[in-house]
This record gives sequence, C-alpha cells and structure tokens, in this order.
Amino acid sequence: MTNQEKAQQLEQWDRCAFFHPSTHLADFAHGKAPERIVNSGSGVYITDSNGNKLLDAFAGLYCVNTGYGQQKIIDAICKQAQELAYYHAYVGHGTEASITLSKMIIDRAPDNMSKVYYGMSGSDANETNIKIIWYYNNVLGRPEKKKIISRWRGYHGSGLMTGSLTGLELFHNQFDLPLSQVIHTDAPYYFHRKDCNQSEAAFSAECADNLEQLILKEGADTIAAFIGEPALGTGGLVPPPKGYWQAIQAVLDKYDILLIADEVISGFGRLGAMFGSDLYGMKPDIITSAKGLTSAYAPLSASIVSDKIWQVLEDGTTKLGAFGHGWTYSAHPIGAAAGVASLELVDELNLVDNANVRGQSLLNKLKTAIGSHKNVGDIRGQGLLCAIEFVADKNSRTLFNPIGQHGPKVAAAMLARHVIGRAMPQGDIIGIAPPLIISEAEIDTVVSAITAAVSEVFGD
Ligand code: PLP
Repeated sequence: MTNQEKAQQLEQWDRCAFFHPSTHLADFAHGKAPERIVNSGSGVYITDSNGNKLLDAFAGLYCVNTGYGQQKIIDAICKQAQELAYYHAYVGHGTEASITLSKMIIDRAPDNMSKVYYGMSGSDANETNIKIIWYYNNVLGRPEKKKIISRWRGYHGSGLMTGSLTGLELFHNQFDLPLSQVIHTDAPYYFHRKDCNQSEAAFSAECADNLEQLILKEGADTIAAFIGEPALGTGGLVPPPKGYWQAIQAVLDKYDILLIADEVISGFGRLGAMFGSDLYGMKPDIITSAKGLTSAYAPLSASIVSDKIWQVLEDGTTKLGAFGHGWTYSAHPIGAAAGVASLELVDELNLVDNANVRGQSLLNKLKTAIGSHKNVGDIRGQGLLCAIEFVADKNSRTLFNPIGQHGPKVAAAMLARHVIGRAMPQGDIIGIAPPLIISEAEIDTVVSAITAAVSEVFGD
C-alpha cells in the first residue's frame, strides 16, 4: 500500500468509526470539517501526516507543559512499564512512583495541603472533589449543606456534575444540565463589564456582593462550596480583576463555604507561579490538578486536600469504615512515573520562571504589534496563558453579533502560517498557551503569525 493509499484509508476509517470529542459530528462524518492526523512532536512543534511542522502555541489542550519528546519522561514511562505496568491503589497499595509523586505534590502545594487522591482527568478529579465535600458535610452532621456555586464561563469538566459546574452553554444544552445542586454566579470578566468607567476593584466588589446576595437567597446552610479557576480558562482566558479573590474569599469565610481552586490549567507553573492559589492569595480547601501534572504524557489527575478536610474524612472512616470511592486507574503507575519526571523537569528547566518571563514578553510584543488595531479589544494574560479578544467596535467594546465567527477565522489564518492558536468558545477570542519551554525566537514566530492573521481577517 502506498503512503497516499494508507492516508486515504485512515481518513475513511476516521470519518466512519471515530466519535471525536467536542466536534461538529455531522460536518466531520460527512467530510465537511477537516481532519488532522498528528504523527510526532518535538519541543514546541508537532508534525502531521501531510508533513506540516506546526508550532503548537496551545500545548495540545494547554497541557504539554514541558514540550514534546522529553526523553526524561519517555524513559520514566518505559522503565515503569517494564517493571510494573499496573497495580491498583486500593486498601493501601502504592508504588514507588505514586508515593514519591504524592510527596512532591504536597511539597509544592500551598502550606495547608495534606494528601493527594489520584484520578485520570480533570473532570474525574472535580467529581471526586464534590463527593469529598458532600461526605465531609454529612460526617459533620450538615446534610443540607450540599449546593455548589460555580461561575458562568468557568470550565470544570464534562461529566454530569462537572459539566454542570462548567458555565458554558454548549456543555449544558440538550444534556439536561446543570444538575439542581449547582448554581452559577458572575464571571469575573472585567472586559465585559457593563459600565465603562467602573474600576477593577469596584467590579470585584460587585462580583463579591452578588455572590453574597445569592448565598443569602439560597440560604448559607445549603451551600457547601465555591469552585473557581484562579484565572478563568476555557471561558475566555481571563486573569482575575484586582482584589477579586480577596473579596470572594471574605464572603466564603463569612458563610463557612469551602473553596475548590481548579488548577487543572494553572497548576505547576503555567501562570508563572507554581500554583495560581499562591499567586492570587486564594486559600483553597481542595486543589484540582491534571494536565501539567504529567505534561499530558500519561493521563493523571490529583485532588489535593487540606488538613482541615482530611481530619473530617479520617473521622468519617472511623465511624463508617473504608472511604467508598475509587477508580481502577487511581494512581496508575505509568501516570505517576510520568508525573515524577515531569515535575522534576519543571524544576530542572526553571519552567515557572520561564513562563513568567516569556509570558510578559509575549504580552508586550502582542500589544506593540496589534494593540492599536481597530478590532483588537483586549490583550490579556498571566504567565503563558494569554488571550486576544476581537470586537466590532473598539471604543465601546461592542462584541461581534453573532459572536464566534471571527475567532475561528483568525485561528485558521494562523494555521496557514503553521502556528496553532485556539479559538475559544462563546466569544471571538484567540488563546495562546504554549509549552512552558518556549524560547524567545518561538515567541516571535507566534507574534508574527498572529499579526499577519489579524490583518488578513480584519484588514489593517
Ligand atoms: N478544569 C479545568 C480548569 C480545565 O481546564 C479542564 C479541561 O480543560 C478540566 C477541569 C477538565 O479536565 P479533563 O478534560 O482532563 O477532564
């Protein structure tokens, strides 16, 4: 079979047998949406089956933090697969990798964190977190305190509970979500404020005030927890406005509501700090981690629980017996080995600092190149999580109507220049979140591609 025949066969199998996530199913099945077969990766680049070498400025799904082809992680995975590809973690079983990784995570996490529970994805980690919190309140004799508050435009996964926590329409519509235990509050999206003259601090105070009104309306003794990403991720890539987390934290403390910091994107360096919680002064009771934990070389997630939560869980098992929650693949040895090697690389390659330095440079260069363009409404970011939001009118910050048509066009124009950016949902927003190893020369390549793509789509 020639290479061309093989490629045609793969495309046919892909379209007739593969149910792709987050994809327009009809367009894909009927050949109207493009497919891409990805063959290899090295550094910040991937290569597809047509031989295109693409600079992946979104690190897969903001997860390949140490970049592609890192020999240290590959070796750790191979060694683990040879020695012991699998054993479970039930009833006190561990491996050198899973035990070592637990210690490494606790050493890097905020001070009050105590233990790590492992899963395979950010979604299952957040499902675990909600179960932990319900169990916690039951053990404390507060069975009514169960509702979870999340934010519109938050992203916390695609499961039944986590899809409910996610505050994006696409993840609710026709799926009978959100579930009744979940309520949503304001997105901390300063660029979308109604009043042009409102300061960031005043906007944060308004978000906190609206949260307090919601808690009072529902009854504080019915609200268990608040979940939020330190900086909004998939819902727009928005760093919090000044004073936001301090104002929210004060309301949560006042009504004895737990905080889950969803650090699936931000954990282990992406924001230029080991954890976003440290950066923004959040005091979480549970931290969710996945993606950067293994740089996505193997699926692994972590629910990192504080000592306060842990003490109650211990009491619970003293009264009730073993903690009845587990996955076959909890603490999978290959994931754990990838995690140990990846976190070592984050230190060895100084990636937290690199995220800071390169992220600042990316923002500065973008602002210089396209900041004054008539359709560029906002350029924002923290570390290597950056967004460009396009508008119909710059002065009034008027969004396009309908929204969501221009972001994909810019992403396509970037791709034509061999740079991958992500058109974010529910907006005209390009997300840039490259591997944290990105060099200054590669930042320049990304900025040039964006600049050219913006003038192609919108004119000069
Ligand atoms: N939480 C956040 C903040 C995320 O960004 C994501 C995925 O993008 C998730 C949770 C869900 O993770 P997964 O896709 O691994 O289930």
